[in-house]
Amino acid sequence: IPGNSRLPRWLKTDIPTGGSVARIRKTLRDLKLHTVCEEARCPNMGECWGGGKHGTATATIMIMGDTCTRGCRFCSVKTSKTPAALDPHEPENVARALAAWGLDYIVLTSVDRDDLPDFGSAHFAKTVQSIRAMAPQMMIECLTPDFLGRAALIEPVAHSGLDVYAHNIETVEALQRMVRDHRANYAQSMFVLEHVKATKPTVLTKSSIMLGVGETDAEVLQTMRDLRTAGVDIVTLGQYMRPTKRHMKVHEYVAPEKFKHWEAVGNELGFLYTASGPLVRSSYKAGEFFIKEILQ
Ligand code: SF4
Ligand code: SF4
Repeated sequence: IPGNSRLPRWLKTDIPTGGSVARIRKTLRDLKLHTVCEEARCPNMGECWGGGKHGTATATIMIMGDTCTRGCRFCSVKTSKTPAALDPHEPENVARALAAWGLDYIVLTSVDRDDLPDFGSAHFAKTVQSIRAMAPQMMIECLTPDFLGRAALIEPVAHSGLDVYAHNIETVEALQRMVRDHRANYAQSMFVLEHVKATKPTVLTKSSIMLGVGETDAEVLQTMRDLRTAGVDIVTLGQYMRPTKRHMKVHEYVAPEKFKHWEAVGNELGFLYTASGPLVRSSYKAGEFFIKEILQ
């Protein structure tokens, strides 16, 4: 992001390099954890890892490898039809490392593993259970694949002991085909969210919409309404940023005032929490929001 003079001023941020971030980076190397925060060069690292004013440190960890079986047009993760086999020790190793790190709130996410018979559902659930056992106080959010909308694969994760189940709808219905891999779609992702609530009503559900890919206001409103109808509790809206020239173009840099508008709409529609801003990411300061807005 820095140095790109064509970006509107509200998107020009520096990647944090300060003392606390450098220290955490070293800890991560020692613990062999892969964070999305670092790999996506997320501009919010200082705030998330530092814990912000409520002292709730958040990070996003990627499990099940770094290679995805799908290829969404906005995403910079490597793709292959045959990624490396899962590491059976990963659930315990991740849990041990997270317990040592001492975070308050962890977002666990993964690539899509359509090559596996259960798409990684059991591995995901086992990782949550291991974290629960080793770090009982830690709040756990999972940002999951769609598991092709199969209820029997969504349920083990929904019942694994997590606090928040997140699955991203990504964009409005009309743009799904253009933005996401052909195996993903709007109805399937809505079903994932709906089914989590049906099978485990006490789990909070969350979804995210990228703006600036060509959607209309009416379509964004409809998507937010559909998320509420599916029982979704938390919604986040952020600006799409093109990772490289090989990825789809940014259609529009949505103004900060428009993001404020969607925040007000989210509140009117009855979401427990709406985070909306150009730099907001699905997991942006998730722990802080959780403590401040939901638990109190
Ligand atoms: Fe990226 Fe997820 Fe799409 Fe895979 S499924 S390409 S990780 S957005
Ligand atoms: Fe990490 Fe998400 Fe925060 Fe970015 S917004 S630093 S990816 S937890």
